[in-house]
Formats: sequence, C-alpha cells, structure tokens
Amino acid sequence: MNLKKVSIIRWILIMLGCFLLIISLIPTMKPTKVIPKSIDKEAKIALKAYPELENVTIKFIIKPSLNKSFMKAQPNFWDLLRPFRKRSYRIYMSDTFELDQLSLKLTDIPSNIVVGWLAHELGHIMDYESRSTPSLIYYGIRYALSSGFVKEAERNADLFAINHNMVDYILATKRFILDNANLSESYKNHIRKNYLSPDEIIYIVQEREQEIEAKREDNPQNETKKTPI
Ligand SMILES: [Zn+2]
Repeated sequence: MNLKKVSIIRWILIMLGCFLLIISLIPTMKPTKVIPKSIDKEAKIALKAYPELENVTIKFIIKPSLNKSFMKAQPNFWDLLRPFRKRSYRIYMSDTFELDQLSLKLTDIPSNIVVGWLAHELGHIMDYESRSTPSLIYYGIRYALSSGFVKEAERNADLFAINHNMVDYILATKRFILDNANLSESYKNHIRKNYLSPDEIIYIVQEREQEIEAKREDNPQNETKKTPI
C-alpha cells in the first residue's frame, strides 16, 4: 500500500472518530428536564425527591384539557420502537382541572397539591423505568383493559411517592380531592377505589416507623457505635 493510500485511510478514520464523538455527545448536551415556567418551582421540589431520575429525560407539558384526568405520565412512544435509545417520558398536565362542578386553573391550585400530584406521576415513571420495553407495552395493555391493574398501578405510584418522603404532599393531594364539596361522590369513589387513602398512607408510614424502631431495638449497638479513635 502506498503512502498516499495510508494517509487517506488515516484521514477517514479520524473523521469517523470525530463524527462518532459528536453523535455520542449530542444527548448529553440536551437538558434532561423541560419544565414550563408556571410549574417550575413545584416540578423542581418533586424532582428533588427522586434523585434516581436525575439523568432521565422528562418533558412536562401543559395541555388545554386531558379528558377527565388532571395529569398523566407516559413513555415517549417512538423511543419504545428504538431499543438502543434511552427512554424518555412526558408528564401531561391539564391547564384547567374540570370535573363535575369544579373548574380550576392549574395556576390556582395550591402549590403543595401540585407537588403531590407531580410526585405521584414521577412514581409512575419510577415504575416504568424498572420495566423492560415488552413489560412496559404489556403494562399499557393491562392498564387499558383491566380495572384491577389500574388499581395496582395507581397505588404503586402512590407508594413510590411515599417511599421518596413525599408523604405530606401526597396526603394533601388526596385530602384536596376527597374533602372537595364540588366533586361528585362517584369521582371520589373512583379515587378511593384506585388510590391509597389518607388512612392507608398514615398506616403505611406508621408501620414503617415501627419496623425501623424494632430494628433499632434489635441492634442497639448501631445507635451507640462510635468511630474508633
Ligand atoms: Zn396515576
């Protein structure tokens, strides 16, 4: 092989290396979170509770209406068709929560209620992240067809939020719905049936505290363990 050919091949390899480097850097240059200004504070409080989602791409999108729901979290459908691409998610929010006699603008809902709602949606994303793509597709099918599975999925999302120290926010959101005189009993029954109730949440938290206390009593040395000098 003559010298000219060697230098052309070397040049092609360098260009190819540069191209691959640029391509691999593109995703890291994009911000992983896209948050509308009107919910910036609330989204950041909720996201702070989920450090596992720091590098997960989540886009928060406010829509005029969401058909009877106020928020929903979904994987980006096109990512599911590209197995080697990192999954990204969208959290859709309704600009106005309209149900029964209630019509509330997102910006008029108390801040801690929005945080609690977002903490629940991020709980769904934690659940999605723990699943393979076929399992996530199966999740979508079961959610659409089985009311039993809806209950399992919704309570799971609440549990993720509780386990991420968002108890006060989640409780505030549940009470906001269940104590609201402008919402019908049938909607409240739907919430009671599919989500964790305030009493269940308090029970779960107390159970956990008792477990921690029992472990502490079983291993008292953990408390008094001092760093050797
Ligand atoms: Zn949900």
